[in-house]
Amino acid sequence: MRVNVSSHDLKVSDHKHHLHPFTEHGALGIDERRVISRADGVWLWDTDGNRIMDGMAGLWCVNVGHGRQEIVEAVRAQMSELSYYNTFFKTTHPPVIELSQMLSDLAPEHINMVFYAGSGSEANDTILRLVRSYWALKGQPGKNVVISRKNAYHGSTMAGASLGGMGAMHSQGGLPIPDIHHIDQPYWFGEGMMTGMSEDEFGLWAARELERAIEEIGEENVAAFIAEPIQGAGGVIVPPATYWPEVKRILEARDILFVSDEVICGFGRTGEWFGSGYYDMKPDLMAIAKGLTSGYLPMGGVLVSDEIAEVLHNEGVEFFHGYTYSGHPACCAAAIANLTIIKREGLVERVRDQIGPYFQERWKALEDHPMVGQARMVGMFGALELVPDENDLKKRFDNVGKVGTITRDHSFANGLVMRAVRDSLIISPPLSITEEEIDVLIASARKTLDAAWNDVRKQGLA
Ligand code: PMP
Repeated sequence: MRVNVSSHDLKVSDHKHHLHPFTEHGALGIDERRVISRADGVWLWDTDGNRIMDGMAGLWCVNVGHGRQEIVEAVRAQMSELSYYNTFFKTTHPPVIELSQMLSDLAPEHINMVFYAGSGSEANDTILRLVRSYWALKGQPGKNVVISRKNAYHGSTMAGASLGGMGAMHSQGGLPIPDIHHIDQPYWFGEGMMTGMSEDEFGLWAARELERAIEEIGEENVAAFIAEPIQGAGGVIVPPATYWPEVKRILEARDILFVSDEVICGFGRTGEWFGSGYYDMKPDLMAIAKGLTSGYLPMGGVLVSDEIAEVLHNEGVEFFHGYTYSGHPACCAAAIANLTIIKREGLVERVRDQIGPYFQERWKALEDHPMVGQARMVGMFGALELVPDENDLKKRFDNVGKVGTITRDHSFANGLVMRAVRDSLIISPPLSITEEEIDVLIASARKTLDAAWNDVRKQGLA
C-alpha cells in the first residue's frame, strides 16, 4: 500500500475515483470517510491513528475475528499449490472436495450437497434459478412464484434485490423482476405493537400472511418461500415466538420449498450452526456466505437437500448455471481454515452457552436508558430501538433515520462501530469477542446513548 501517502491524500483519491456501495456520494465529505488500514481481533485501526471496536464484524461476517494468521497461511499455501482452477467440465480439486464434505457434515441430515458462488447475492440468484428449474424438471413449470417478505435483504443483484423486500432498492432499475411476491414481515416493535394484537397474536398473523398469499396465488403456482430466520439488514428483526412454528405448520401441509437465507444467521451467529436450526425449521435450500470464510475471502454457496439433488442427478438433466469462481480453491482453503477455527474453539457453543448470554444480559440492561424503547438480541446480534418517549413506546421520531444517524455517528466518535437502521442501532461483533471487550462495548454504547440523547433534545427532536 502507499505507506507514505498522508491520510488526507488517501481520502482525496478515494473521493475522486471510488464509487462506494450504498453511499450518498454527494453527502460524503472527503475527510468524513475513514480509511481502515489494519485490524486484529475485534479492533480496527484507521489512517488517522484511531482504534475502533468492530461492533459489526465487518459486514456481519468476520465471525472468528480479524487477523487470524492460520487462515492467511492456509490461503497462502493453497495459492502456491493451485491458485485457481474451475469446477466445470468434469473437473474438481482437493479443497472444494474437502469443504463440501465439511459443509455436508455441518448441515442438517437431509442436506449433503453444495453449489458454490462468490457471494450471498450470487447464492440467492442461484437459488431463484434452481427452485424454478427444480419444479420445471418435476413437470410443474407453472410453479415459479417465490414468496418473500417486505424489508428482507437477500442481496444486490437483480434476483437478490428482487427477492429482498427493500422498497428503496426496488425503486431503482425496474425491480422486482416478475413472479416474486412480498408479504408482511414479523416486526413486532416496528409494526405489530401498533395493531392492538399481542406479540404472540401478531406472530401468528404475520405467519398466516404466508398462508393467505399461497391461497391467493394458488399452491400450484408457488415454488418457494424464502426468509432470513432473523432479518439482519432489515434491523435484526427477531420474530415473535409464535412465528416460525406457524410457518412450519403452513409449509408442512404444502408442496412448497423452504429457503433459509443463512448469510448472516449461519456459522454461529445465533448460537447454533444455522439460524434455521435455532428455530427448528427444515429448509430445502440454504444460502450461505459471510461467516463461511469470516470474510477473509469472498465466497457464497447453496446447501441443497437430498430431494432436490436427486432431481438434478436424473439422467439428461443439466442445471445451466455456474460461476468462474464457483469453488475457488483459495476461498475453499479460507473456508476450511475458518470452519476449523470455529469448531476447535467451540465458538458456536460459546455463543449459545457463555459469551452470548453474557452479552445479551448487558445489552438488555440498556433498556433503562430513556432513549431505548427495546434492546433485543439473539446469540450475538441485536438492536436498540431508539424512541422519543420511553413512556409511550408507540411514539416514533419524526423524519425517520435522522436520530439513528446522529447516534451512529456518536458511536463512531466513541470508538465503536454500530450500524444505524432507521432509528435503531445494530450490533453484531465477532463471535470471538471476550467478556472484557463486551464490557468496553457496553460502556461505549452507553456513552453514545447519553451523548446522542443530549443532542436529540438540544435539537428539539424529542
Ligand atoms: N442475504 C443476506 C441475509 C444478507 O445479509 C446479505 C448481505 N448483507 C446477502 C444475502 C447478500 O450477500 P452479499 O453481500 O455477499 O452478496
